[in-house]
Amino acid sequence: MTASASEKPLDAFWMPFTPNRVFKQAPRLFVRAQGMHYFTPEGGRILDTLAGLWCVNVGHGDPRIVRAIQAQAAELDFVSSFNMSHPLAFEVAARLASFAPAGLSRVFFSNSGSEAVDTALKIARAYHRARGEGGRIRFIGRAKAYHGVGWGGLSVGGLARHKRAFTPLLGDVDHLCLPYDPQQSAFTRGQPQYGEHFADELESLLTTVHDPATVAAVIVEPVTGSGGVYPPPKGYLERLRRICDRHGILLIFDEVITGFGRLGASFAARALDVTPDMICCAKGLTSGAVPMGATIAREAIYEAIAAQPASQIELFHGYTYSAHPLACAAALAAMDIYEHDDLFGRVRKLAPVWADSAHSLQGKRHVRDVRSIGLLAGVDLQPREDAAGARGAEVGQRCFDAGMLVRNSGDTLLLSPPLIISEEQIAHVFETLGRVLAATP
Ligand code: PLP
Repeated sequence: MTASASEKPLDAFWMPFTPNRVFKQAPRLFVRAQGMHYFTPEGGRILDTLAGLWCVNVGHGDPRIVRAIQAQAAELDFVSSFNMSHPLAFEVAARLASFAPAGLSRVFFSNSGSEAVDTALKIARAYHRARGEGGRIRFIGRAKAYHGVGWGGLSVGGLARHKRAFTPLLGDVDHLCLPYDPQQSAFTRGQPQYGEHFADELESLLTTVHDPATVAAVIVEPVTGSGGVYPPPKGYLERLRRICDRHGILLIFDEVITGFGRLGASFAARALDVTPDMICCAKGLTSGAVPMGATIAREAIYEAIAAQPASQIELFHGYTYSAHPLACAAALAAMDIYEHDDLFGRVRKLAPVWADSAHSLQGKRHVRDVRSIGLLAGVDLQPREDAAGARGAEVGQRCFDAGMLVRNSGDTLLLSPPLIISEEQIAHVFETLGRVLAATP
């Protein structure tokens, strides 16, 4: 006999990326959030060092977003954008395009980062086909990349454990190596000086392994995010850009994490001054308040795909909830806040304070590397012998017990707080972490 739902009230929710049985022995629940903090059912206050899941960039519960969503829900709950839409959708698209580098002007809405990535990959193939280069089908991703969980994003992603249960994935995919050498650039603040040459691997793949005329797009996170926070070496993205241009290949930046201020600008493309052909974004677009993703494409990509009779549907692609009114209301409010409160400027000011504090962990117990850029940091811990990931998980739990939510991916700690974090809170985060590391075997 199986236990009834009332006997096991937590069982029905099959939680994502979670060891469900362990979690349900000791559930970690939050009932409220405000500003920099979550609150537990018992009233405990937990400092959020990950902006929810890299998304709540303006801080939790900003009343301007709350009011916008409430008003929109009362006004227009839903309208499809299949051959109809609502005025706010156009306003948000134009505003979002104004956040992107010049030339990226067409916005395709979805509901998540995964969908934004799969949309970009589909647009890339459609673009080449529309120009008579239908043989360009191949995608090139990178080791340690996370591009979400759709078949496309999973295929170009570079995290083996995410893929293992689901093969075969897309066949026409290759991967670049992670442009990182701990011998040369451990404990680097910002972009490492060393490693521009890692981009040459692309040239070598194109000239020795694949026919470049079969490659549709290269996709990278400008800063590898959930794979461990690896900023790109100086010159690396520029070199990728040049190689893609030389071979007629599109360059896609997955800015699901780096978008909306994380590096002190609207997008990493702007902060690092390298312009891709498409940007995928989500998360900070609504500051996590309502699901929304978007793929922003160069005008020329749209124009090539649209070069067919005006009565034709240009792209057989879209989602029921593309440009959902509540998401649009949240996105507009979030973009207002980014600009009104100058949150990107705030990150530029805070970044050196963040880096100083993060790098104060150098030399602390178990710490093997610290990488930081903007308001992002990754801290590699020495793994325990025969128990990879155990130390990272224990540190995460001890931080939680000390009132701080810190994410670990295996033995790497990942920090990406709301952009409203104060200097005192930054100091508190890394002092607490230092104490926790000292106490952890
Ligand atoms: N791309 C990147 C770079 C991400 O970090 C994520 C999620 O963390 C995704 C895509 C997938 O986004 P979502 O979980 O909204 O599908």
